[in-house]
Amino acid sequence: MQRRDLIRGLGLGAAAAATAACSRRDGEARVAGPGQRFEWKLVTTWPPNFPGLGTGAVEFARRIEACSGGRLSIRVFGDGEFIPAFEVFDAVASGTAEMAHGAAYYWKGKIAAAPFFCAVPFGLTAQEMNAWLYHGGGLELWQEAYAPFGLLPLPCGSSGCQMGGWFRRELRSLADLQGLKMRMPGLGGEVLARAGATPVTLPGSEIFTALQTGAIDATEWVGPYNDLAFGLHKAAKFYYYPGWHEPGSTLELIVNRQAFDSLPADLQEIVRTTAAAINDRMLAEFTARNAEALQTLVNEHGVELRPFPPDVLARLQELSVEVLQEAAGRDALFARVLESWQTFRRRMDPYLAVAERAMLNTRGG
Ligand code: CA
Repeated sequence: MQRRDLIRGLGLGAAAAATAACSRRDGEARVAGPGQRFEWKLVTTWPPNFPGLGTGAVEFARRIEACSGGRLSIRVFGDGEFIPAFEVFDAVASGTAEMAHGAAYYWKGKIAAAPFFCAVPFGLTAQEMNAWLYHGGGLELWQEAYAPFGLLPLPCGSSGCQMGGWFRRELRSLADLQGLKMRMPGLGGEVLARAGATPVTLPGSEIFTALQTGAIDATEWVGPYNDLAFGLHKAAKFYYYPGWHEPGSTLELIVNRQAFDSLPADLQEIVRTTAAAINDRMLAEFTARNAEALQTLVNEHGVELRPFPPDVLARLQELSVEVLQEAAGRDALFARVLESWQTFRRRMDPYLAVAERAMLNTRGG
């Protein structure tokens, strides 16, 4: 990378460029000049080709290759095929891979504010997340948060509103949360802990076995489409809603900043535009497939669909406010992001009350 920059800076000719091309490593230009070709790696936190999430990353790579006429070629790796799920952030920061696809809340141990860019309990819907990120200052804050790691984040998908999760035993009251071992990443896990449960963080690929063997008592994953694909209904019978912890989870593309800056301007724009296109496409896919899969789970697999008891949701909401306020007291960036996010959410409520919420309440069957 440095050598190519040097050659470009000195304005050397084709012979020098060809020499550089011969000594390239993966990720560097194969041919210098206007026809430069780049071979990149994209590591993901998803099982290989997992419906919606993994296939969305593959579609991202396919479109980039097509739009760039093959000048930017991206090889996609699932969880563990090259890098384990929870190490992809470091892999891209170090340049081991140029890109990753995952969810920002996995990195809350590195960046306290990261969950805001994926999902926060009782937070924004998918539509509101896009509005905040693209038109409410959210994306600028996200990019500021990742800049010290040499990373450029971009929204690249959304699961829409998630489900509350799978429980091996019925959840009747707050008392049933005591000691409950539940897979839940992000700030939702911290809220659960305050409610007396024991949150566990597991990558998607390990959830089914943990639930089936009873190593955990409950899990959330995504929603009907993805939960059906994992067969979670075979390991637990009770399926709760709503997904209070993830009302509209944005998925992320993270790009090594130095690698991104080495791309010509048109390829940079192709990366940005394709990420935005996948952001839309994935939400549309999840919305359509979730509706189908919910019917399959209930009608064909006899899943017991239940709302969370109102007192459980009320307590989780109280605890969520506490978790956010306390984190803001510990971390200045978290406090700034919370301020932006809260201001935006407050602005949305009166509008949505007379728009989507009012309309859905009156639409009927
Ligand atoms: Ca989830």
